[in-house]
Amino acid sequence: MISSPVHLDRCRRCGQPILSGYSEGAWVRADPAPVDALGELRALQAGRMTYDLQPLGLPKRPFLWQRTAWRIRGERKWSVHVQHACPPGPHFPPPPSQPVELYIPSGYTVPDSPPF
Ligand SMILES: [Zn+2]
Repeated sequence: MISSPVHLDRCRRCGQPILSGYSEGAWVRADPAPVDALGELRALQAGRMTYDLQPLGLPKRPFLWQRTAWRIRGERKWSVHVQHACPPGPHFPPPPSQPVELYIPSGYTVPDSPPF
């Protein structure tokens, strides 16, 4: 099952920013804004899947994992994102653009000239 770090991309139908990448063999498209427990419940009731955004590797890259019932029961360790659904109405998407690779800063930030 292939998993890849997600990129920041634009939806080809509606033009909204999305996170897209492979998660356990499936192509995943999710909204970049994280949701709380209530937002996740509303998304599940609307038939949209939810994903954990887990930073992995060095340098840290974001991966999306589908939140199964088992993962939803556990504690929330990472930000939760909802499967993208295009808003209703006509769409006027901008021309396709290159996806942006995402890196999550980690560790201590050391200034070039320490104050001692
Ligand atoms: Zn869309």
